[in-house]
Amino acid sequence: MNVYDGQRIAAMLKTRGMVETDNVADADLIILNTCAVREKATNKVYSALGRIRRAKKESALFGIVGCVARESGADAFKRIPELNFVLGPQSYHKLPEIIDNPDTKLLNIDLGGLEKFDELPQMTQTPLVAYIPVQEGCNHCCTYCIVPYTRGREISRPFNDVINDTINAANTGAIEICFLGQNVNGYQYIDENGTTYRLSDLIRAAAQLPEIQRIRFTSSYPTEMTDDLIEIFGTEKKLLPFLNMPIQSGSPRILKLMNRPDDLNAYKTIVEKLKRVRPDIQISSDFIVGFPDETDEDFAETLRIAREIKYINSYSFKYSPRPHTAAALMKNQISEQIKSVRLQKLDAQLNENQREFNMSCIGAEMLCLYESADKTGKNLVFRTPYMQQCIVAKPDQKIASMQKIKIIDANKSCLHGEIIKSE
Ligand code: SF4
Repeated sequence: MNVYDGQRIAAMLKTRGMVETDNVADADLIILNTCAVREKATNKVYSALGRIRRAKKESALFGIVGCVARESGADAFKRIPELNFVLGPQSYHKLPEIIDNPDTKLLNIDLGGLEKFDELPQMTQTPLVAYIPVQEGCNHCCTYCIVPYTRGREISRPFNDVINDTINAANTGAIEICFLGQNVNGYQYIDENGTTYRLSDLIRAAAQLPEIQRIRFTSSYPTEMTDDLIEIFGTEKKLLPFLNMPIQSGSPRILKLMNRPDDLNAYKTIVEKLKRVRPDIQISSDFIVGFPDETDEDFAETLRIAREIKYINSYSFKYSPRPHTAAALMKNQISEQIKSVRLQKLDAQLNENQREFNMSCIGAEMLCLYESADKTGKNLVFRTPYMQQCIVAKPDQKIASMQKIKIIDANKSCLHGEIIKSE
């Protein structure tokens, strides 16, 4: 979501004649787009602000946008008095106000709903992967999560607006569409005629665009994986065979404390249904270890589910208490030392899953999307349909953005391949 927000901010500033620079000392305007999901991320924002304050030229405007801005509010000005603006994730379209009035301070952390989408100019050039938000906010209230506070209640964008953005992305360079939302599969929009649109309708409409060759979505909430969405994995081949469906913990007791769906059988049934309609599908998850009151047995259940579902490409974090959340006030907070040990064990399991899956890909031919050259400039990096990095030697001739690649080697972190034909 922050990548998308950053791209839209950059596009908006370009329409005002601004150009990007890599050098902080040259910049007239410096914007830190921030994430508050973990405490560490918030701390990093303030140390970065300290560095920028010292490096920037005196006349430069600087400030923060995004979730740390919303979380900190006016306090941010107390901590860093030189800040010119503090704009929440739904107010960054107000940036021109500070550019036009550089001698003022601008604070806006309102939850403005969908206003920003209407006010931002369309992108005139889109990267190969286009992030298209379909909804903002979340109604789920997981007890550890700051998102309902920073991004507000869930609100779905009108179907036609999302499709217009998708068409614009396809016309300006995108090959892959990633539909985004904190609760993306909860997308539901009812138009003036009473017609209800779900995420599956967005996928079906996007798949009709000839320029679009790959579609994915993130992040999913398990109980919102309705049958229409499961079935479209079987019928729509442009939808990648890869789904991030966070479980967070394998312990029903901890899931209850997290206010997450705690019926593991229901979760496993969704995975089985997905595999029935799309036998090559792979699942990834997010995990939190060391949630308050998590015992060794609870954690062992997390390890068990990670092994059983064979998650690939997953994210795992130590629980981090966040302001405005119920879990931060819970008793029996777990020590950092125990959290670290558990995280190491879980990562070992997830790495083993990833290594096994990567090895199983050797010999396969996959249609992959170009990402970038590697650091040496001698190789090219592609993304497989499972979001694995695949490295190939740079060919002499120009390559297309989508390439069929034969996988010839693999390790835990990536695949190595050979280009076999252009598509
Ligand atoms: S579903 Fe995701 S975004 Fe919503 S409250 Fe839970 S963790 Fe946060």
